[in-house]
Amino acid sequence: MVFAHDTELALAAAAALVNTAHPDPDELSTGDQLAEFARTWQWSGVCGDYSAELAAVRDLRPTLERFWAVDKDTAVDIVNRVLRESNALPQLVKHDQLDYHIHAVPSHAPLAERMAVEAAMAMADVIRADELGRLQICGAEDCGDVYIDLSKNRSRRFCSTSCGNRSNVAAYRARRR
Ligand SMILES: [Zn+2]
Ligand SMILES: [Zn+2]
Repeated sequence: MVFAHDTELALAAAAALVNTAHPDPDELSTGDQLAEFARTWQWSGVCGDYSAELAAVRDLRPTLERFWAVDKDTAVDIVNRVLRESNALPQLVKHDQLDYHIHAVPSHAPLAERMAVEAAMAMADVIRADELGRLQICGAEDCGDVYIDLSKNRSRRFCSTSCGNRSNVAAYRARRR
């Protein structure tokens, strides 16, 4: 493991959230899609109305995507601003099947705020470990999705095996020509 389990989960969730904006149509177009996303990524706590949270969650995506594009000092500015604006107060908690991990805003805070703070806390780990280089953009020509390279030797090149396979086939065909 490169980072703590909750950090790795938060980074993967942040990447998945960013990537929902890439397909056309947008994969977070409805409250139901947001509810499904929240279930998939195990966002605990109450959310009464996903349709009402949708706009704020969608607006968060470009902010998180900047982590894949900026230098360390700018990433620090984003992390600090998110933590400041949401009055983050880190607390160790344990719930459901999860062992101790950090919540920095209460579980009744708006979903977008919880997502922003969780990503910012994870990025604080990444920055302190000087591992920003693990935030990568898929090498497949037609993709552009973001991912976190958690491999030992930082050798991952694609967001998914399907992108890797597609690119390998394309490279093979190019060689044969
Ligand atoms: Zn939790
Ligand atoms: Zn890809």
